Amino acid sequence: MIRYFKKRKGQFLLTLILIIVSDIIIAGGTVLKQKLIDAVTILDLQAAKVLIPLTVGYAVFSGGVYVLSNICQSCFSAKIMDDMRCFVFSGIISRKRKDFLSVNDSDYISAVTNDLRIIQQQYLGMFFLLVIFGGGLLFSAGLMFYYQIIVAVAAIVCAALMTVIPMALGKCLARYEKAYSEKAANLTTCLTELFSGFHVISSFGIRKHAKERFQKCSSELKTAEYQSEGISAAADGFAQLLSGVAQATILTLACYMVFIGKMTLGSMVAFITLNQTFCSALTMVLRGIPMIQGVAPIINRVNTFSLQSREENEKRQPTLQRDISIKNLSFEYRDGEPVLGNLSLTIRHGEKCALTGESGSGKTTLIRLLTAELEGYEGEICYDGIELPKIDAEAVCKIVTVIHQDVFLFDDSIRNNICLYEEFSEEEFERAIRLSGVKKFMDQIPEGDSYQVGQRGKYLSGGQRQRIAIARALIRQTPFLILDEGTSSLDEQTAVEIETELLAIPNLTLLTITHHLRNPQAYDQIINLPKV
Ligand code: ADP
Repeated sequence: MIRYFKKRKGQFLLTLILIIVSDIIIAGGTVLKQKLIDAVTILDLQAAKVLIPLTVGYAVFSGGVYVLSNICQSCFSAKIMDDMRCFVFSGIISRKRKDFLSVNDSDYISAVTNDLRIIQQQYLGMFFLLVIFGGGLLFSAGLMFYYQIIVAVAAIVCAALMTVIPMALGKCLARYEKAYSEKAANLTTCLTELFSGFHVISSFGIRKHAKERFQKCSSELKTAEYQSEGISAAADGFAQLLSGVAQATILTLACYMVFIGKMTLGSMVAFITLNQTFCSALTMVLRGIPMIQGVAPIINRVNTFSLQSREENEKRQPTLQRDISIKNLSFEYRDGEPVLGNLSLTIRHGEKCALTGESGSGKTTLIRLLTAELEGYEGEICYDGIELPKIDAEAVCKIVTVIHQDVFLFDDSIRNNICLYEEFSEEEFERAIRLSGVKKFMDQIPEGDSYQVGQRGKYLSGGQRQRIAIARALIRQTPFLILDEGTSSLDEQTAVEIETELLAIPNLTLLTITHHLRNPQAYDQIINLPKV
């Protein structure tokens, strides 16, 4: 959190100064009140005439400073939250592919929404309250000693006694806050999955199951909320109760001091007011400290996501001018369950290869290894003779593009989905849409390349989405193109046309994964992956 505060240190300091000034003004108001009451008690009309307008003016002034301080706090809090949101998002989006995939999407969503909301309410909000009440605590204690030392000592002892129970309860709170954050993340996971699987839910009539699953997650969240709110409320309740007892004791003692002439009536009223401020400030501070401590695990979780992946400067950039060679490659996801065993093959630059094999034989796994998405294999994978672990894994995507069966499209135009917000010449765009077959269907849409494809491309057919994915790869002219059943959603004629076009691109290294090899003789090499 310190780095965010440092970034906006000017505004942070201004907010702190305003809070402290506001505290001093409130304490000063009590002294003014005491002077007025004492003047009235001894019927000093002259003093009262000066003190009454002064008290009113002072109240207006202190209200103004208070409003200004509140505005500053809100602005500061909103800016810090914006900084955090952007920083966390940037950390998540900059993660290396394998790191990104190791966490569920919904955990990321929960971090940027639920967790940050908790941090805003319970850390930032509480932080300023602590400063406000911390200042109130100090100034009121100082003035209480100024008015009557014995009663002030008694007030501090009573206050110390009232801290015991809330402090003990506060320790439990951190545990329950963490549980609450986890349950909130579970609910987000559940929602994400149920909404993305809406088609399956509605087609198979399993709405009842979906409702039950959601209700279970929601009910678990409710229980976690009860527990954390319950502990928090109990801590508050005890603090209020003890504060009431302490104030009553101090009132009795102060009345006694007035009787024996050690305090004036004005001092007693001022002292009681100060003691009330002191007790409520102490209650808030006692409540606030465990709350801030309770948010620590959530801040840690968010910080883990916001850590930027380290640059791999020392690693080499991949090239593909000669070949990709695989030697004695073996891989298993789980110990003792090999998926690939002792596989060796070479794909030369510009070669057109087909990869076949029954379902589960490890074709997708091989691609994930080739694109450095998976690690922990035995054997060698080399690009132009350089072993994959020595290559910057993030740069592999600059030379390899994989077109999967399920294509992701942004809710944007056809052109933006192909160019992906990069600049390309009109010739490059035309070539990509022609070779991929996008041109064929795009020419029939009145909006042309500005046609909005909808969320995840829902206004296009599966085949049209695949053609956009192919165009996306072709426009970048990455030297190595892998089609993972990448033409499976196309009709036979379009699939053949696109295959023919791709096979005719001279410098393109092509690896087509298919169950259905239409044109075996057109390929330089057919690799059949045996099931291990
Ligand atoms: P193919 O693409 O040839 O159908 P895959 O490479 O997808 O085969 O899968 C090969 C085997 O690896 C299958 O038995 C599959 O269950 C298993 N597998 C795939 N992905 C994972 C994973 N992330 N964790 C564990 N096992 C996996």
